[in-house]
Amino acid sequence: MKTFSYRKKICKFCDNTDITVDYKKPQVLRRFITEQGKILPRRITGTCASHQRELVRAIKRSRNIALLPYVVDVKDM
Ligand SMILES: [Zn+2]
Repeated sequence: MKTFSYRKKICKFCDNTDITVDYKKPQVLRRFITEQGKILPRRITGTCASHQRELVRAIKRSRNIALLPYVVDVKDM
């Protein structure tokens, strides 16, 4: 039987100091966005408030220089 953990999620950036919030690292940021390019909320990723804020800024910056896709709008398709 699979056991589910209801422990509080830990922030990946606090937990592993090797990973930094960097807009030049889309491979890291990509783990925090959906397939549609939407930023995942904290309750899903477990990222702490301060890192989430940095993350949002990094993702937006990364989009500006086209490292990450903008949210795909179905209406435009
Ligand atoms: Zn953190």
